[in-house]
Amino acid sequence: MRTALLFCVALGVAIPAAAAPLHANLTVDCREAPRRILHAKLTLPVAAGPLTLRYPKWIPGEHGPNGPIVDVAGIVVRAGNRVVPWRRDDVDLYAIHVDVPAGASTLEVAFDYLAPADRNMYSSGGSTTASLFALEWNLVVLYPDGVSQHDFIVTPHLVVPHGWRYGTALETAKASGDEISFRPVPLETLVDSPVIAGEFFRSFPLGGEPAHTLDVVADSQAALAIEPSFLEGVRRLVAEAGALFGTRHYARYHFLLTLSDRVAHFGLEHHQSSDNRTRERFFIDREARLLSAGLLPHEFVHSWNGKFRRPAGLATDGFDKPMRGDLLWVYEGLTQYFGWVLTMRAGLVPSEWWRDDLAATASLMDTRAGRVWRPLEDTAVGAQLLHRSTPEWQSWRRAADYYPEGLLVWLDADVLIRTRTNGARSLDDFARVFYGGPNHGAEVKPYTLDELVATLDKIAPYDWRGFFRTRIDDVQPRAPLGGITGGGWRLVYDAKPNERLHAIQQEDKVESFSDSLGFLMKEDGQVEDVIPGTPAAKAGLAPAMRVLGVDGRKLTKESIDDALKLDRGTIELLVLNSDFYKVLRVAYRGGDKEPHLQREAGKSDLLSAIGKPLQTVTAPTR
Ligand SMILES: [Zn+2]
Repeated sequence: MRTALLFCVALGVAIPAAAAPLHANLTVDCREAPRRILHAKLTLPVAAGPLTLRYPKWIPGEHGPNGPIVDVAGIVVRAGNRVVPWRRDDVDLYAIHVDVPAGASTLEVAFDYLAPADRNMYSSGGSTTASLFALEWNLVVLYPDGVSQHDFIVTPHLVVPHGWRYGTALETAKASGDEISFRPVPLETLVDSPVIAGEFFRSFPLGGEPAHTLDVVADSQAALAIEPSFLEGVRRLVAEAGALFGTRHYARYHFLLTLSDRVAHFGLEHHQSSDNRTRERFFIDREARLLSAGLLPHEFVHSWNGKFRRPAGLATDGFDKPMRGDLLWVYEGLTQYFGWVLTMRAGLVPSEWWRDDLAATASLMDTRAGRVWRPLEDTAVGAQLLHRSTPEWQSWRRAADYYPEGLLVWLDADVLIRTRTNGARSLDDFARVFYGGPNHGAEVKPYTLDELVATLDKIAPYDWRGFFRTRIDDVQPRAPLGGITGGGWRLVYDAKPNERLHAIQQEDKVESFSDSLGFLMKEDGQVEDVIPGTPAAKAGLAPAMRVLGVDGRKLTKESIDDALKLDRGTIELLVLNSDFYKVLRVAYRGGDKEPHLQREAGKSDLLSAIGKPLQTVTAPTR
């Protein structure tokens, strides 16, 4: 049961003391989205006296105080024809105070959201282009302080540029020309229900019960040419997720996919939809499709793990309440694992690809120099800091490692359950219990570590608390590779290219010599990271230096690879450090090294067993 705070002078709130809920209208005029400006107007019932309005600060799924209040402009508050002055709180910068004049029963708050062109920070990053937008409603809404997000009921209206079409999990009440009115929803659901719209739009029904839809908006008509095999893969993803979890917790589900090279690239989970943004040529280029093949599966898994079941510290009631991320290695780490599993089961990538993917993850985590001081849990607790950290000294600082290392920990747990029960049980059984129960639509069921451990113990009795303590809480100089070795494989390094790693590097325009010389640089020679203790670090190389030459010759795309092949024992790097040139001599033998998985003879192949579809459909390899 949830109760609304109806009238609370102590908090400086003046809300009519009528029975909850409180109904408001929100109109967002997106006709100037191509100019990167959205006009919002909120109309809400009020009573005379002090009123505090808030802009969402802590954004669900982003796990941080990312609400871009800096991009809110043009605030004008009106009561009837009167303009009412407003004042920002001088401590809580996300709150504004107004004094509602006597006799006013409705307040209208107009403001603009200045959409950035190229910032890469989740929903507050680039979201509009000349021909499309992806809108998370937290960017364009204010809410009265003291009213629960469940009891502030908003009727959303949208005006789109002429002829643009849209996709969302919100229910349309009325659409007339370019104006759309949706059915009223609580603020919590509104912020959980993004809209994509654009000139080039297609919608693909995916079937299933309840109904699933793939809505796609792109920067060109050509980009909408979906490969039938990919569409079939997404249909299998829907079926495989149903088989994995045994139940669903939504009334409908929309995969919202934005294909553009001009918006921020990320995925953001919601109960009944996901906001997925990737390259414009995602459908056209096999490479781009493989690179982001795990995007839809990951965000889809979140509907169960993250939205329905949520760590208690992240299940806050109010966008002004700080979130605690200590269990993000479950929220994101287990999602990363199940996402990887479903990508295989749906046949969205060939088997060599997912093995290269796992090898790259294992190698990245195993060579993290910061493992010696920072336990995995601290990367989760400190997520808000690490999301804003730079690539410089990343290996020493660590990054949001609860994603990739979380995957390794959960693979380890899955293999352990399969081994201890002689294949009778697996993490799939845990999924059906932990995420089970009837479908009441979008619902949040918080959990604690105690409940997680108790559920695992029911599936396969084991010292799960100890299992997690050593892998999560303790400092561990080596990555948890028990899932790989127990699964019948081992991590090896050789000169054969790791296809997955090369695709990532091409996308990010970086070249990695992490597993040989111990550094990473941009294509222009700008050093991004140097791993402490490696030959490059010992030679004196550091981030932000720029490599200009190799072995006496100007740097080219191939020069370091060529020097590695010659394997002469020393590679000379001419570097520019601030305004000074220097030659660094890197002592190294062993050639190029890239991570791969190799079968361990005589051991059963549990990794392939985990990747086998649960449904009887044949998963093609492409
Ligand atoms: Zn996630």
